[in-house]
Amino acid sequence: MPNRLQGATASGRIAGACRRAAPGPRTHPFTGMSVEDVPVFRCMSTGMGELLEHLWALRGLDEEVATLHAALERFPEQRRALEQRIADERGRLDRLKSRLGALQLGRRQIEKDIEALADQERKFQGQLPAVKKNEEYTALLKEIATTKAKRSDLETDVLVRLEEEEEIQAQRPGIEAAVKTAEHDAAERTRQIDAEEQVDRARLAELEAERKLQIEGLDAVTRGRYERIRASRDARAVVPILKGACGGCYRAQPPQVMQEARRRDRPLVCDGCGRMLILPPEAI
Ligand SMILES: [Zn+2]
Repeated sequence: MPNRLQGATASGRIAGACRRAAPGPRTHPFTGMSVEDVPVFRCMSTGMGELLEHLWALRGLDEEVATLHAALERFPEQRRALEQRIADERGRLDRLKSRLGALQLGRRQIEKDIEALADQERKFQGQLPAVKKNEEYTALLKEIATTKAKRSDLETDVLVRLEEEEEIQAQRPGIEAAVKTAEHDAAERTRQIDAEEQVDRARLAELEAERKLQIEGLDAVTRGRYERIRASRDARAVVPILKGACGGCYRAQPPQVMQEARRRDRPLVCDGCGRMLILPPEAI
């Protein structure tokens, strides 16, 4: 595309002649930029404001790009939260099932023990008629009573376990419903998230395309600087001067900088953060 700034950059000689005498270039420690590095367009009758407009437009696009990137970061977290809720509900159901399984297994074992004791009891009962001696008879009756008492204890144990099993069975439908609700909500919310993300990504693609055009319109030197500062400074290369301070690092700007900024002929450089400073259009 044709460089809209070509007219201005080609007249560097004029610009150089018009450059204000500075006390020697001060290089910013971070960006390596000095005031002298910024091309001067101030003496041009046309195109002087164009660079600032260009940079200002680029700033607007980059701010929106940064906001969108931050917004896009929320989606993975939202998806994780939905998956976590399903996993939690499924975990509750699994714990319930395994508790039920353990109870049933234990109960079956106790029921086998009860059966064995009942067999034992029957065996003793069968031996009774054959016993001749009184003491043996009494001893056998005692054995039968002991076996019966053991069996009775185990039967009580089975009843307690059955009660707990019933309680668990009663909780089960509620937890199964909660799992289904979590799955259903997640599916619905995921569709919304997908749609929101699609909108954001489409807008981001638009912005990137627009940004590409804007950046290509800058001269190579300014473009290089812009991208360098942007990469190192939180994706913000150009910031407005707000209430006499840098909009990036909030450093107060000296009166001569403010005076120069009002001319709106070139971006200034913040001594604090190295970003390019522009007095916003609405402040003029
Ligand atoms: Zn600053």
